[in-house]
Amino acid sequence: MSAVRPTQTDAEALLADGTTVGIRPLSPDDHGAVLELHAEGMSQDSLRMRFFGVSRNAPKQAADRLCGPPRTGLLALGAWAGDELIGEADCELLDEPAETAELALAVADRWHHRGAATLLLEHLVRAARAAGVRFFEADTLSGNRAVHRVFAHLGLPVERRYEQGEVRVRVPLDERDERYRSAVDERGRRADVASLTTLLRPASVAVVGASRRPGSVGRTVLDKIRQGGFAGPVRAVNPHAGEVDGEPAYPSVRALPEVPDLAVLAVLADAVPGVAEECGAAGVRALVVLTSGLGAQEARGLVRACRRHSMRLVGPNSLGMAQTDPAVRLDAEFGGAFPRPGTAGVAVQSGGVGIALLQRLAWLGVGVSSFVSLGDKYDVSGNDLLQWWESDGRTDLALLHLESFGSPRAFARTARRVTRTIPVLTVDAGRSTAGRRGAASHTAAAATPTVTREALFRQAGITATRSIDELVAAAALLHAQPPPAPRGAVAVVSNAGGIGILAADACAEAGLELPELPAELGGVLPPGASVRNPVDTTAAVNPLELTNLLRALENELAVDAILVCLVPTALGASTGQDPVYALLEGPARRRVPIVAVLLDQQVPVCYRTCADGGALPAYSDPVAAARALAHARDRARWLAEPPSPPVDAPDCDRRTARSLVDGYLTAHPGGGWLDPLSTADLLESYGLPLTTTVWARDEPTASAAATALRNLGHEGKVALKAYWPGLVHKSAAGAVRTGLAEDAEVRSAYREFMRRFGAELAGAVVQPMAAPGVELLAGVVQDQVFGPRIVLGLGGTATDVLDDRVARLAPLSERDLTTMVTELRSAPLLLGQRGGTAVDLAALRSVLTRLSLLAEDFPELVEADLNPVIVRPDGALCVDARIRLERRPSFDPYLRRLRRPAAAEGT
Ligand code: ADP
Ligand code: MG
Repeated sequence: MSAVRPTQTDAEALLADGTTVGIRPLSPDDHGAVLELHAEGMSQDSLRMRFFGVSRNAPKQAADRLCGPPRTGLLALGAWAGDELIGEADCELLDEPAETAELALAVADRWHHRGAATLLLEHLVRAARAAGVRFFEADTLSGNRAVHRVFAHLGLPVERRYEQGEVRVRVPLDERDERYRSAVDERGRRADVASLTTLLRPASVAVVGASRRPGSVGRTVLDKIRQGGFAGPVRAVNPHAGEVDGEPAYPSVRALPEVPDLAVLAVLADAVPGVAEECGAAGVRALVVLTSGLGAQEARGLVRACRRHSMRLVGPNSLGMAQTDPAVRLDAEFGGAFPRPGTAGVAVQSGGVGIALLQRLAWLGVGVSSFVSLGDKYDVSGNDLLQWWESDGRTDLALLHLESFGSPRAFARTARRVTRTIPVLTVDAGRSTAGRRGAASHTAAAATPTVTREALFRQAGITATRSIDELVAAAALLHAQPPPAPRGAVAVVSNAGGIGILAADACAEAGLELPELPAELGGVLPPGASVRNPVDTTAAVNPLELTNLLRALENELAVDAILVCLVPTALGASTGQDPVYALLEGPARRRVPIVAVLLDQQVPVCYRTCADGGALPAYSDPVAAARALAHARDRARWLAEPPSPPVDAPDCDRRTARSLVDGYLTAHPGGGWLDPLSTADLLESYGLPLTTTVWARDEPTASAAATALRNLGHEGKVALKAYWPGLVHKSAAGAVRTGLAEDAEVRSAYREFMRRFGAELAGAVVQPMAAPGVELLAGVVQDQVFGPRIVLGLGGTATDVLDDRVARLAPLSERDLTTMVTELRSAPLLLGQRGGTAVDLAALRSVLTRLSLLAEDFPELVEADLNPVIVRPDGALCVDARIRLERRPSFDPYLRRLRRPAAAEGT
C-alpha cells in the first residue's frame, strides 16, 4: 500500500432504508466532525464497545489519528447524511503480517440498524483492495454482538481467534467471492426498493409548474393525475396563479398543507435546480423532472439537490410515470391513456417509444403494473426498475427500452437474476452506425458497439428484439403461453400449402427446428393432406379433423410448439365449417405452446380467447409468429441452464502482474504496447501458454538462440520475427520467417531483416516452431463503460477474411466458455466433427479463463491480442501476442453507489 490513493471514493449510496449518504475519504478538514461523531454521536456504552477498540481511549485520539496530516498506509472513509458525519470506517496497514490492515469502524448511535456499517465496509474493502490490502484484522470485545453481526452480514468469511476476552478477527478480502457479491446484491436490492417506494407508491403528489393554460405539460399532468383517481392529495404549485382549474394553487412547495412524497417538475430549465433544492429542503422524497434541455450547470444543481436531500430522481426529459396499483392509481405522465392495471412493467428511455409501447400493449389487452419514462436517466435507470419489479409482487413481465447504459455490468448482474423469474424484453436500439449516432446525441451517452450490447443481453438472459412490434409479438407469447421445451421443435400446420411453406421458411430462418412428423398423423386428415412438416391439411379440412390433428400434435413427442396458419376460405364460410372456429373451440392451454397465424387479421398481434378461457396469441404474419417462438425457445434454453459460476483459476500471480503493469506505466505514463519480453512475462504470470520466446539483439545472438531452441521446435525448426516498437502486422511487413532449420537460414534471415528494416530494427525474437493445429485468435478489448470484452475467433491469416468470431463480456461463466466455442462457425474444426480429432478444449477454456481474469484484474490492459493460439488435440499454444496498457482507474462495477450522470460531471 505504497500510495494510498483510493481511486473510487466520493460516491453516494443508499442505506437500507433508502436514505442517500455520501461516502468520501476523511481529510484534515473533517477533524471537528470526527470528534463530534465520537464524542456526541455515540453513547458511553457504544464508545466502550466501539468497534475494534483501536481508539477506545478518547474521541480526540480518533480524530487526530484519522484527520491528521495524510499518512501512508491509512485509509479512512466517512459517510455523510447532508452535513452530518454519521459513521467512519478506516484501516491502517500493519507491518506484519504482510498485506494486512487493522480495521476500525464507528457509527453514530442514531444511525445504527440502517446498514451504514456494512455500506462503509463495502467501500473500504474496495478502496483497500485497490491499494493492495488483502486482509482486514481487528480486535473486538467478545461481547460485542453488533460487530459480529456486521461481519456475518458482510458476506466475507471471517476467521476468529480468542485472546484473553477479546476476539481477533481476520477477514480475507475477496471481492470475487460469489457469497460476498450476492450479499452485496441483496443489500443493494433492498435499499433500492426502499428508496423507490416514495417515487412509485407516493402518498401525496405536487405538480410544480402546473399552469392555468390547458395543454401545457404541467397542466396536462395535473389533470391526468386528478382524472386518474390518485388516492392521496394532489397539489398544484404555481407562484403566478391562485388557482388552477378551480382548485387552489400554492406559491411554493413550502406553502403546501402537507409535504408531498413526490414532486413532478414542469418548470423552465433554469428554474429546475432551485425548485429541486426547495423540494429537498421541504422534505420531498422523489422527483420526476419533465423539463428537457438542462445545461451542465442546471444538471449539476439538480443532481446535487437530489443527493443532498435523499431524493430519487426520474428524468429530466421524462414523459412521466404511472402506477396502476388500485391502492395508488397515479397517472403522472403526458403521453397517452392511463394504462389499465396489469402485470407488465414498462420502462423506456425515449418517451415516444413509451407511447407506442403502451398503445400496443393496450391493443393487446396486456395491463401495466408501472410505467416509467426514464428520459435522460440522471438517477433512476433500468437497473432500478428491474429490482422494483422483481420485488413489487405484481409484475411478471418486464419491458425495457434502453438507448444507453450507465452501469452495464451492474445492470447485467441484476438482469441475470431477474430473468430467472420473469421474462425481461428489450428493443435493441442503435444497431446501425446511424442509429448509434442518434442514440449518442439523443442521450448524450457514448455509443455502444453492437457486439457489446448483444453480448450483454445474451449473457443476462434478456430477450432482445429488433423492433417495437417484435417486442410486443414476443411479449404476447411469453405472457400467455408456457415456454416450449428448450429444443423448440415446431410443427407448422396450415390449410393452404403455400402459406405453410412460408411459415416453415420463417421458422427455419428464426433458427427453429421443424422435425419430420410420423405418417400416421395423416389418418385424421382429409385425403390429399400432407403430414410432413409443414402439415398441409388442404382447404377441405373440417373442424373435427383439425381438432383431432391438434390433439395428436400436442401429444407428439417430437413436437415442442405448434404454429397454426389459417386462411379463411369460401369453402369454410359457405358450410359454416370455418377452421378458425375449430381452433378457438379447442383449448389455448395445451401440453405445448400454440400460436396462430390468421392471415385475415388486421392487427399484427392480438389474443383470441379459446374455449378454455386461455389466450391464444394470434399474428397476422408468419414471420412475426416464428420470431416470437424463437424468443420463447431461447428463454426456455436460458431457464434450462443452471446459473453458471464465474470462471476462476487459482494460480494467477496477481502480484507479479501488478508490478509488471505498474512498472511499465511508470516508465511510459502515456501507455503503449508492451515489448515482446514484457508481454511474455505478463502472460506467464497468469498462466497463459506463450511459446518459449527468446530475445536477440543481433545476428550472433539470434543464431545462438536458434541453436538452443531448435530441438524444442516442430521438426527441429524455429521461427524468427523482427521487432521494433510500433511494428503491427509483422507478416505483412515481411518480418516473420518460419520453419528455419539450419543455422545458415537463421543468419541469412536476420541479415535480410537488417537490409530491409535498417535502423528501425531493434532486434528479433526466436521461437521454436509450434506443431500445426487450428489457429485461433483470443483477445480482449476493454470498454470504458462495459468493461472487458473477450473475443474468440478463427485466427492466423484467416482472421480478417472469414471474420468468424464471438464475444462475451467479462466475467465469463463456465457456460460462456462452452458457447463461445460452439457458436463459432469453425466449431466443427474444434469439436472433431466431420472426421477430425477434437482439439484440447480444456486447454482452450483455460486460455479464455485466464485472459478474462487478467482483463478483469487489470483495467489497464486495454487491448490484448493472442493471434494465433494454435490449438491441437494435445494442447493450446500461443505464438504471437500483443498487449497495450494504459493508465485506468481501478473500478469495481458492482460497488453500491448511485450513478453519476455524465451531463452533471465536471465542476
Ligand atoms: P503477425 O500476426 O504479426 O503477422 P505472427 O507472429 O502471428 O505475426 O506470425 C504469422 C503466422 O506465422 C502465424 O499466424 C503462424 O501461422 C505462423 N507462426 C508464427 N510463429 C510461429 C511459431 N513459433 N510456430 C508456428 N507457426 C508460427
Ligand atoms: Mg499474429
